[in-house]
Amino acid sequence: MDFKSITVAGSGVLGYQIAFQAAYHGFIVTVYDINDEVLAKAKTKFTTLGEAFKQDLHATQEQIDATFKNLSYSSDLAEAVKDADLLIEAVPENPEIKTDFYHKLAQAAPEKTVFATNSSTLLPSQFAEATGRPEKFVALHFANEIWKHNTGEVMRHPATSDEVFNSVIQFAKAIGMVALPIYKEQPGYIVNSLLVPLLDAAVNLWINGVSDIETIDKTWMVATGAPVGPFGILDVVGITTAYNINKMEAEETQDPLKIKAVEKLKEDYIDKGKLGVSTGEGFYQYPNPAYQDKDFLK
Ligand code: NAD
Repeated sequence: MDFKSITVAGSGVLGYQIAFQAAYHGFIVTVYDINDEVLAKAKTKFTTLGEAFKQDLHATQEQIDATFKNLSYSSDLAEAVKDADLLIEAVPENPEIKTDFYHKLAQAAPEKTVFATNSSTLLPSQFAEATGRPEKFVALHFANEIWKHNTGEVMRHPATSDEVFNSVIQFAKAIGMVALPIYKEQPGYIVNSLLVPLLDAAVNLWINGVSDIETIDKTWMVATGAPVGPFGILDVVGITTAYNINKMEAEETQDPLKIKAVEKLKEDYIDKGKLGVSTGEGFYQYPNPAYQDKDFLK
């Protein structure tokens, strides 16, 4: 399968990055969203993203101009997908919205179109029936700031055909991703299957009074050679996300350690506006967090 024409559905946090990344790598990209107002916002965001590509990837103005030429916009689903070889879905992480979207898409898209979901927490098999073409459906999961954190996790569900799986892997490579094939459905893919337990363990050690934040990070960094420890990572992910995950777990399990974690994260961080790198302070202060000091690991 040779993908040339790509449609990205949803131009939010991830969708507009995916669209720009594919257009930058020479694909013809249509951006689809619910109305023209949202699409106008996406156009503004592309201009800012172009600057980030110049700064981080040393992209030239010519490359950015060519990227814009590859981008077009539509809020009419049938129009947006009429030529699509591949549709990448980045609509909100809500099962009802996604199911409804796939029902409509199944009617609107030509037979050739392969569908890929960027969902972080929902498994593709959950939507396979709604797509009307389970064999042409796969997950293609990107990380935030995809031009820098260029993982492309390609995860098949039981009915995905080999041809579709392999073609989407090739596509991920063609847009500059490190393609990571996942042969079996796994909640959290590989990245979050590794990361979430690590971050969870770090918070537990801290809340349980086993050690302090800096010592926990230092231990991880010295022992594994990693450039950042779990609390440094949490500052990047955002403390609100950690809070939400702990809150859900606390409500479900009533585990006293989780309840304490929720209270501590709320009182000492969320309520004080210390949300991580995005607000300039979280577990560390930015732009020069203590864990980057040359003496931190001594
Ligand atoms: P978002 O809320 O920022 O953006 C969603 C976009 O979808 C919005 O522009 C919205 O207008 C649009 N939309 C809503 N309903 C729609 C519909 N019916 N048809 C088309 N567009 C519609 O969400 P996001 O953070 O970009 O997440 C999108 C998907 O990407 C989710 O599945 C999420 O799990 C996944 N994802 C997000 C991140 C992240 O860091 N934000 C990382 C990896 C994957």
